[in-house]
Amino acid sequence: MNRGLLTHIAAAVGTPVYVYDAAVIRKTYHTLTAALGARFAHHVFYSVKANSNLALLRLLQELGAGADIVSGGELARACAAGIRPEDVVFSGVGKAAHELEAAVTAGGVLVNLESAGELEALARVVERVGCEARVGIRLNPDVSAATHGYTQTGVREAKFGVPFEELQRLGCAVYRHPQLRLTSVGMHIGSQITDPDPYRLGAERLADAVRGLREAGVDTLESVDVGGGIAIRHGEGFALDPKRFADAIAPLAEATGLDVLVEPGRCLVGNAGSLLTRVLYRKRSGGRQLAIVDGGMSDLLRPSLYQAEHPIVVVDGAEPETNGAREQVDVVGPICETGDFLGLQRSLPAAGPGALLAVLGVGAYGFTMSSNYNSRTRAAEVLVDGERWAVIRRRETYDDLMRGECPEPEWQ
Ligand SMILES: *Cc1c(COP(=O)(O)O)cnc(C)c1O
Repeated sequence: MNRGLLTHIAAAVGTPVYVYDAAVIRKTYHTLTAALGARFAHHVFYSVKANSNLALLRLLQELGAGADIVSGGELARACAAGIRPEDVVFSGVGKAAHELEAAVTAGGVLVNLESAGELEALARVVERVGCEARVGIRLNPDVSAATHGYTQTGVREAKFGVPFEELQRLGCAVYRHPQLRLTSVGMHIGSQITDPDPYRLGAERLADAVRGLREAGVDTLESVDVGGGIAIRHGEGFALDPKRFADAIAPLAEATGLDVLVEPGRCLVGNAGSLLTRVLYRKRSGGRQLAIVDGGMSDLLRPSLYQAEHPIVVVDGAEPETNGAREQVDVVGPICETGDFLGLQRSLPAAGPGALLAVLGVGAYGFTMSSNYNSRTRAAEVLVDGERWAVIRRRETYDDLMRGECPEPEWQ
């Protein structure tokens, strides 16, 4: 996105503001689907939790994506964006009965089960409502991937999925239930995975699981779900080449003859998004140069939570008299937490109060993890499409902040 347009948007909408580039989403989507399509039949289910803005969901739906959801709220969003229930996969380790009911009554949602208890809960719902459901089972493939400990989901100790030894029993129980149809087995091994090997290993275990189920007489399988997690380089592109990802998965497609479901989140939207934030003040503290900006951990939690390093650039207002000389600065937010920073020890052109900065590669797990901590209104979101731009979520107001609260409690 060009600097002039970003400067214009920041002036018109205010800061902090998330800006997404539709062209990047389209291009990334086509790169991924071209790589997969060259190897096997596949369906893309965009992982809504990466960025759940309705305008982005609509854009991805138009590109042909379904939705991978983890809550009833995400189901409501997917439906509101025009995604058909049969193009929705419901993942997640703790689906509540009301969420299962919303999914099965919508009709056609693939429910990925993660425990025997969840099967019982789903069975109770379909029996009460009197409908049918498509079911998948999420395998815990017991593979580890070199990523942040919080984003590793496929190791044995993780809370996700069912162990290999249990999958067979659970799968047969689903198969026997007259209102449930076992169509899929899947995995999701984590996020920001740069190495294809964990996918290769996990895919082998999925192939074993499919073989075991078929030997036990299950003849309803239609797909294998390999999850998401494809890594990106913030502000650049894929950190795991989609062709290498496809190579790792292809033997699973060949061995089983099943369609492959993929659930990418971050890689589709991450590099399409920037957070624009303005420098409020400069000061020195303990020998460090600080740039205090108007966006903080309530807007972008990733640096604080995952020690994620997102590139930061000066979009507008670098001090001209310094002739582009660079300085080392900590870019910190206004929130009352020492852990509130967007980037530490960054080399930036000298930028004083009023300068506009962009934090790059924050289209995924940026806005969706934002909060109202410190009673800050959540940022606006803007979509750019070529020369055009539009606000796709207005900045919150103080009324939004206090909605639903009761200063004079109605005691029961
Ligand atoms: C979060 C999640 C994804 C997406 O992960 P990314 O790293 O954003 O690609 C896919 N599937 C499931 C089950 C998830 O929980």
